[in-house]
Amino acid sequence: MASGRIAIIGAGPGGMAAALAAIRVGFDVTLYERAGEVKAAGNILNLWPPPQKVLKLIGVDTVDLGAPCQVFFRNAKGKNRAVVNLPDAVVREYGGGFIGLLRWGLYQRMLAALPPAVLKLGHELREMRDAGDAVQLAFANGATAEADVVIGADGLRSMVRAQLWGDQPIRHQRLHLVGGYLFLDEAPDGIGVISHNRTTQVSYTPIRHEGKSGYEWWVLEACDPDAPPPVDLHGFCRDRATQFPAKVQELIAATPPAHLQRWEIRDRPPLPQWSKGRVTLVGDAAHPTSPYAAYGAGMSIEDGYFLARELAAVDIADTAAVQGALQRYEDRRKPHTAQVTQGAYHTGRMFHHLPAPLRPIRDLVFDHTPFLQKMVGDDMPAHIVAQLAEIEDAEPYVPIHRRQEAAA
Ligand SMILES: Cc1cc2nc3c(=O)[nH]c(=O)nc-3n(C[C@H](O)[C@H](O)[C@H](O)COP(=O)(O)OP(=O)(O)OC[C@H]3O[C@@H](n4cnc5c(N)ncnc54)[C@H](O)[C@@H]3O)c2cc1C
Repeated sequence: MASGRIAIIGAGPGGMAAALAAIRVGFDVTLYERAGEVKAAGNILNLWPPPQKVLKLIGVDTVDLGAPCQVFFRNAKGKNRAVVNLPDAVVREYGGGFIGLLRWGLYQRMLAALPPAVLKLGHELREMRDAGDAVQLAFANGATAEADVVIGADGLRSMVRAQLWGDQPIRHQRLHLVGGYLFLDEAPDGIGVISHNRTTQVSYTPIRHEGKSGYEWWVLEACDPDAPPPVDLHGFCRDRATQFPAKVQELIAATPPAHLQRWEIRDRPPLPQWSKGRVTLVGDAAHPTSPYAAYGAGMSIEDGYFLARELAAVDIADTAAVQGALQRYEDRRKPHTAQVTQGAYHTGRMFHHLPAPLRPIRDLVFDHTPFLQKMVGDDMPAHIVAQLAEIEDAEPYVPIHRRQEAAA
C-alpha cells in the first residue's frame, strides 16, 4: 500500500473522486472545502460510462444512480439527425450507458463513500508554499497544514491553478443554459433528445434520483454577458420551447419553478502544463468544460483515478519521483480532456454563433448528410469507449469504514 499525506482543495466531484481514489491506494488524505457544507452547484447532470466505471472502482454505490437513455440528436421538428451509438456490451454493463441524474444524487453517493474524518469543511485555501520536500497550506480560518502532495480540485476559478500558473482570463462562451427537472409517476421511456432549431437547443433526458423517476431538460442559446438575465426563467423556457415538439413543452410546463436554474457558460482553453513541484490539478481547475459535452464532472472523476494510480507507484518522499508521477498523470489526461473541452466549445459555436446567413446551410447539412452522425453519433462514443479501456478492471473498492460497518 502507498503511504504519504495528500491534501485536496475543493470537495466537488473532482476533489471527492481524487480523495476516494487516493484513500483506496493507501494514502492519508485530507479534503478541504471552503463552504460550511458540501453543496451541489447546480441541479441536472448526465454521466457517460467511464466515470460510472471509476465511481464503482473507488467505492461509490452506482446502483440505480441515474436513468439510462439512448440519445438522439434531432431538429426542432423531431427529424433524427444522429443517434449516439454506444456498443451493446457497454450499454449492458453500464445499465444503459449514458445516465441522467440530479447532481445532488451524485454528491450524496460520493459523500457516503468518504470516511467522515477526511473532509474538513469551512477551510478556504488562502496560501500555498511548495518547500520542495512538502507543501505548506494556510486557510482563511487560521488553520495551517502540511502535505506531501497537493491536488487543486477547486474549480473554474481555481486558486491553486492561479498560484501555479498565474491568473489567465476565463473564456466566456456567450451562451447561457436554463435547466430544470421534474418527477413523474410513470417510468421514463429511455430516450434522450438533444434538439436544435436555428438558434436554440431544447433538450431532455430521463433521470433517476433517490428511487424516483422523471426528466431533466435544458434550454441553451447565445446570450450577451453584459445584458441582465431573464427575470422569468420559466416564461423564458416556455417561450423558447414553442417551436419544439409537444413532449418537451409539456415537461417544461409541468416543472416546478423552484426546480429551474440558469448558468452562463464559461471555460478556459487547454492549459499546457498542469503540475509543478508537488502540486497538481484535477477537474475544472485543470480543464473547465462547456456542458455541451456533458463530460466536465465525468472527466473530473476520471482524473482522480488516474492520478492516484500514478502516485501509488512511486515513493512519495522522493520529490523527483513525485514530479515524474504527476507528469505521467497529466500527459495521459491532457489529450482526452483537451479534445472534449475544445470539441464542446466548437460545438457550442457551431450551433449558436454561426452568422445568420450560414445557419440554413448548416441545418441542411445536419438534416441531410451523415456529418452530425459521424461527429456526435460515432466519433464521440468511440472516444468514450477508448477512455473506458484505459480504466483497469478491478474489484469494486469498499471503503474501510464501510467494511468495518459490515463486519460489526
Ligand atoms: C449548466 C452545467 C451543466 C453541466 N452538465 C454536466 C453534465 O451533464 N455532465 C458532466 O459530466 N458535467 C457537467 N457539467 C460540468 C460539471 O459541472 C463540472 O465540470 C464539475 O462540477 C467540475 O467538478 P470539480 O470538482 O472539478 O469542480 P467544482 O464542482 O467547481 O468544485 C470545486 C469545489 O472547490 C471548492 N473551492 C473553491 N475554491 C476553494 C478554496 N480556495 N479552498 C477550498 N475549497 C475551494 C468549491 O466550493 C467547490 O466545492 C455541467 C456544468 C454546467 C455549468
